[in-house]
Amino acid sequence: YYNENTILYIDGEFKKATAATTDLYGQSLHYGYAVFEGIRAYKTASGEVKIFKAKEHFDRFKRSCELIHIPYHFDNEALIAACYKVLELNNLQEAYIRPLAFCPPNMTLKAASETHVLICAWDWGAYLGEKLLNVMTSSYERPNPKAFKIESKSAGLYVNSILASQEAKDKGFDEALLLDMNGFVAEGPGANIFFEKDGKIFTPPPGNILPGITRATVIELCKELGIPLEEKLFTIEELKKADAAFFCGTAAEVIGFGALDGQAFGKPWAESLGKVLQQAYKAKVLEKEFKREEAKVA
Ligand code: PMP
Repeated sequence: YYNENTILYIDGEFKKATAATTDLYGQSLHYGYAVFEGIRAYKTASGEVKIFKAKEHFDRFKRSCELIHIPYHFDNEALIAACYKVLELNNLQEAYIRPLAFCPPNMTLKAASETHVLICAWDWGAYLGEKLLNVMTSSYERPNPKAFKIESKSAGLYVNSILASQEAKDKGFDEALLLDMNGFVAEGPGANIFFEKDGKIFTPPPGNILPGITRATVIELCKELGIPLEEKLFTIEELKKADAAFFCGTAAEVIGFGALDGQAFGKPWAESLGKVLQQAYKAKVLEKEFKREEAKVA
């Protein structure tokens, strides 16, 4: 993620990653009381490097902090400018950008009164790879929204994601799929889920999931391409009868399921609407024109 030449942004300054320090008595380190974002920059068709949906990510960054009472005194436009500067200082074009809001020393459970902000970036390929995913239904549920601000992209919440993801890998799968506390399909450890049935796309409504920015983009793309979409709660049994399914997220982009709990789907991925949306998403982030008729489907 970094080497001796890497530059990061911390509290208004650009510093060498190897020279930047943090306090070991920080509340964020001890209690996972921090908020982060995951953003991508792309070298667009015009050759210009652009951060995809930067405003939406920083709006969520702010909302995530506010939801868990981490004071947010940052100017998002200045943070976006800092992201571009970090890219430039590290000669990065296609990169993953990680802002982190964290709190100073405090061993109590009182909400923070001050916040630090860090922005770093690194070269990261497709997070879940390019191959179709062999997914398992996790034995872990997503945290109950009555126990946590589930819509806040908070660091501590990701212990749940690590447990689910590691369980899947230990059992020989590529990724986990988690249910919500009522037994409906919620999301992956780091991605939202969609499925296709009879020419229509479905995804869980907000409430028990992270409101993904890629999810919102896929919904927009469905509207643009005339693909019918419905947000609804559904069970794993219903999902297993689907024609196809996919995960989407900033790091993962759009990536199809090969199988769920060892069971294949009704349609080959190459013929699915997900495949069309995968190409449309790639075109959107690269600011290329996309026509549904030109989608490469088998
Ligand atoms: N759900 C979870 C639990 C995630 O960690 C992510 C990744 N941020 C997503 C969904 C997808 O969100 P986004 O599209 O904004 O990256």
